[in-house]
Amino acid sequence: MTLYVATSNRGKLREFALAGGPEFQIVPATVENPPEETGATFEENASIKAAAYSRRCAGLLFAEDSGIVVDALGGAPGIYSARFAGPDASDDDNNRNLIAALRGLPDRRATYVSAIAIAEAGAILGTFRGEVEGMIVDDARGSGGFGYDPHFFYPPFGMTFAEASPERKFEVSHRRRALDQLFAWLKNRFHAR
Ligand code: IMP
Repeated sequence: MTLYVATSNRGKLREFALAGGPEFQIVPATVENPPEETGATFEENASIKAAAYSRRCAGLLFAEDSGIVVDALGGAPGIYSARFAGPDASDDDNNRNLIAALRGLPDRRATYVSAIAIAEAGAILGTFRGEVEGMIVDDARGSGGFGYDPHFFYPPFGMTFAEASPERKFEVSHRRRALDQLFAWLKNRFHAR
């Protein structure tokens, strides 16, 4: 089954490609004017993207909105994770901002969240959410992954997501957990037809 995905984020694309396996071919879709992500939740933003992209793309398309929710920051940066340090912020800028915001705060708990919306011809068919809990460490560790991974320490692995291999991160990641629900839903829906 071919599934289009609304993203140009290379880190995410690598992880989606890992996930599909032989059953789901995941193909990036691009549009000329991507919609503004004006939602108040991860699910709303994923749905805005999925609806807009799927209107201009034949077939099933999913979109993901993800980010990091930090307890000591009242849930920030949350849906603003990609632009925590400003509209054109790099991963390094965002990471520096996060560590500065946490200076002096002992509570380091953080949750990665991934919300996926699946759509066809502009209609949302379902949404799915995956989460994984970790701790923010001040010093960047590892060179894998993307975004906040060098600072996201995952206690069961005893290392950050940037130190883990892509396959290992993907065994437990928020993105994997949301995708697994999407794939189960698709199998159910299409085998039931
Ligand atoms: P989105 O493209 O609006 O969904 O932005 C997601 C942002 O959340 C990314 O740019 C990263 O900053 C952060 N993020 C989401 N998932 C991950 C991950 O698996 N590792 C590191 N950062 C992530």
